[in-house]
Amino acid sequence: MKVLVLNSGSSSIKFQLFQCDDWGVLASGAVTRIGESEALMRCAWTDAEGVQQSLEQRAAIPDHHRGLQRIAEALAQTGSLADASELLAVGHRVVHGGEAFHAPTLVDDDIIEAIRQVIPLAPLHNPANLDGILVARELFPSIPQVAVFDTAFHQTMPRTAYRYAVPDYLYREHGVRRYGFHGTSHHYVGRRAAELLDKPFEQCNLITLHLGNGASATAIREGSSIDTSMGMTPLEGLVMGTRSGDIDPAVPFYLSKHLGLDNETLEGLLNRQSGLLGLCGDNDMREIQRRAEAGEEAAELALGVTAHRLKKYIGAYLAELGPTDALVFTGGIGENSAELRLRACAGLEHLGIHLDAGVNAEVSTQERAVSRPESPIKVLVIPTNEELQIARETVEAVS
Ligand code: ADP
Repeated sequence: MKVLVLNSGSSSIKFQLFQCDDWGVLASGAVTRIGESEALMRCAWTDAEGVQQSLEQRAAIPDHHRGLQRIAEALAQTGSLADASELLAVGHRVVHGGEAFHAPTLVDDDIIEAIRQVIPLAPLHNPANLDGILVARELFPSIPQVAVFDTAFHQTMPRTAYRYAVPDYLYREHGVRRYGFHGTSHHYVGRRAAELLDKPFEQCNLITLHLGNGASATAIREGSSIDTSMGMTPLEGLVMGTRSGDIDPAVPFYLSKHLGLDNETLEGLLNRQSGLLGLCGDNDMREIQRRAEAGEEAAELALGVTAHRLKKYIGAYLAELGPTDALVFTGGIGENSAELRLRACAGLEHLGIHLDAGVNAEVSTQERAVSRPESPIKVLVIPTNEELQIARETVEAVS
């Protein structure tokens, strides 16, 4: 049997089709620019002879319904999925599950309503995720649909970690608390780290660092998330591509009062014009590293602030966890930026983190240890695979 994983955004649907018995990827791709005059459909697959193939088509795709239809047609055309009856289930990424969802969940009408209830907490993401589910139900009515939430892995956080020190009714009546995101990625690399350490996940204490355009750190105690850097929204925590991460909560009041900025402007400022982009005008880490090497002050500052914040969180989570097995880097930056790994780990030898500068500098796409063999806390680089994690959790949920 096969599992189709869908990640529906406001103008895109990304997909991956897995073979359940060996988790091989049969096909993957995306429909992007849905609703624009010309949408782009990309699909890559392995043909019967084992040769990698790909197709690209441009045509108007007015909505998600037509987008998913195109994906189903492409999968049939490539021979990856001749008929929908070959599907065991469809797994959907859903960004926010609020407090209602602790695990992957088989979708029915009540679940759809419950996801709808959470929309105010994730107005940019959940409506598109929900659209994907509704369309897939229409298109594959007899196939189970499973929702896998970015927040679910963090539902094990204790109250002391997830509550903000604000009036109690804001939590009780309005859901103001920390939820955390990137849960699927933290969970996936955590499990892979346990396998590399040859230790049951349930016995591992880990700090996982997902560093992509969005970035978050998670403290995992005995296989469960006990703290994470993103909060009620993905804005809190580490320095990101275009998000500020932690700032004094009074800054927006100050800007509102002295510059007359309204809520929408402030939201855009902190979510889309801050972070690396705000500090140096670039949010591509490769370019920032190149500029910093060439001696550009602003790029050097952006790297420095990012590494400083990262180190602060590593220290905080070491204090929370006590004995720690490994620090795990993932995401486009975590997997590829030896420079940032080096800066984040520099000077942490007294805490048991001994990076091997030579091994760390080697370019690789493989899972690997970049710490010295004698390092009490291992430093691992593990490419994330959220789609595979969603596929596995989808199968678990239906069986
Ligand atoms: P997203 O959160 O959008 O999935 P990714 O996980 O793909 O993002 O990460 C994107 C970031 O990874 C970008 O800042 C990009 O510059 C960075 N990145 C990708 N490759 C490298 C590399 N070789 N060296 C440094 N940074 C890299």
